[in-house]
Amino acid sequence: MKQYYVCNVCETKYDIAENVWKCRCGGMLNLLKEKVTLDPASLQQLPPTLWRYIDTMPFEKNSNIWKSITMGEGYTPLILLDETEPNTLVKVDYMMPTLSFKDRGAAVLIAKAKELGVTRVIADSSGNAGTAIAAYARRANISCDIFLGEGTSPKKIAQIKAHGANVRTVNGTREDVADAAQKAVIEEKHFYASHVYNPFFYEGTKTYAYEIWEQMKEEPDTLIIPVGNGTLLLGVYYGFKELLENELIKKIPKLVAIQAENCAPLAEAFINEEVEAKHFEGKSTLAEGIAIAAPARSVQILEAIRSTNGEILTVDEEEIAQARATLAGKGFYVEPTTAANYAGYLKYDHSLSEKIIIPLCGAGIKAN
Ligand SMILES: *Cc1c(COP(=O)(O)O)cnc(C)c1O
Ligand SMILES: [Zn+2]
Repeated sequence: MKQYYVCNVCETKYDIAENVWKCRCGGMLNLLKEKVTLDPASLQQLPPTLWRYIDTMPFEKNSNIWKSITMGEGYTPLILLDETEPNTLVKVDYMMPTLSFKDRGAAVLIAKAKELGVTRVIADSSGNAGTAIAAYARRANISCDIFLGEGTSPKKIAQIKAHGANVRTVNGTREDVADAAQKAVIEEKHFYASHVYNPFFYEGTKTYAYEIWEQMKEEPDTLIIPVGNGTLLLGVYYGFKELLENELIKKIPKLVAIQAENCAPLAEAFINEEVEAKHFEGKSTLAEGIAIAAPARSVQILEAIRSTNGEILTVDEEEIAQARATLAGKGFYVEPTTAANYAGYLKYDHSLSEKIIIPLCGAGIKAN
């Protein structure tokens, strides 16, 4: 499959190479690839992991590189949340090898890094992305440095260290952590395995959409999605777009994004009808996984939500804490960021006939 990076701002094209992660103009890179074609009948012969969709991803033909890296990620359960709500399903994406949906992107990104011959990666994270990158890098025999803020959950730090990653702690905001990682990428000349910058991560998160389509045999009406940097939201959008291009669905579901009121740059830009989010001077939030004050792909995220007639809702700290308890009362023990997403669903005005899917992105034991 022929593939390039292309700048989201000036449309400059770049060959896919180890040291390219941003356009010279500062723009974000997207993936330009041949049109994906999908054969639903042959898909069903393949094992139930996200690798059943490898033909929709830009790997070399008949690539086997993923086979020594996979831990069986993907094809997570899609189940009824509660019998009183017959059209609301939860997709249990914390049932992943490192206990969050980030495994979707990390498995694919690290397999691509391996294909490119990369031997060392650098990433920055608020916790779960770093954990997933560390785990898959280890499996791929790639050495790994993860930049983290000082306030990162101790359990997430322990998980990252357990995989042998070199943890580099930064005293500052989430943006300071990203800046430090990018400085190291440039100075030390290593591959930036960023879930935000590297478009191959989205090739992994898009499998969330493919799985829903296969599991439901149709598209849902609405997807509730937690959004910080938008890696799930954008992946899901790309996945449904490819399904639409293959005429396998009739429409892209409505995207309802959820942010914490204490850190809501996208919600603010959405309400003010702005094209791009401004840096948000927020407070800390229980929903640490979506506490991103300046999301680098805000233009694309806002565009995707608007194009589906979607919306962005915010939830406060009290609602997050309550939602966590409510979900646990139904059997699901999730981390606060995932509770925030469910709290958003509870505020979303909908009819009983609307087919809605809520992801449960992170496991409860990851957080304090
Ligand atoms: C990363 C993460 C999110 C948010 O994903 P973004 O890509 O930042 O939008 C939500 N929930 C959990 C559990 C996460 O790990
Ligand atoms: Zn550019």
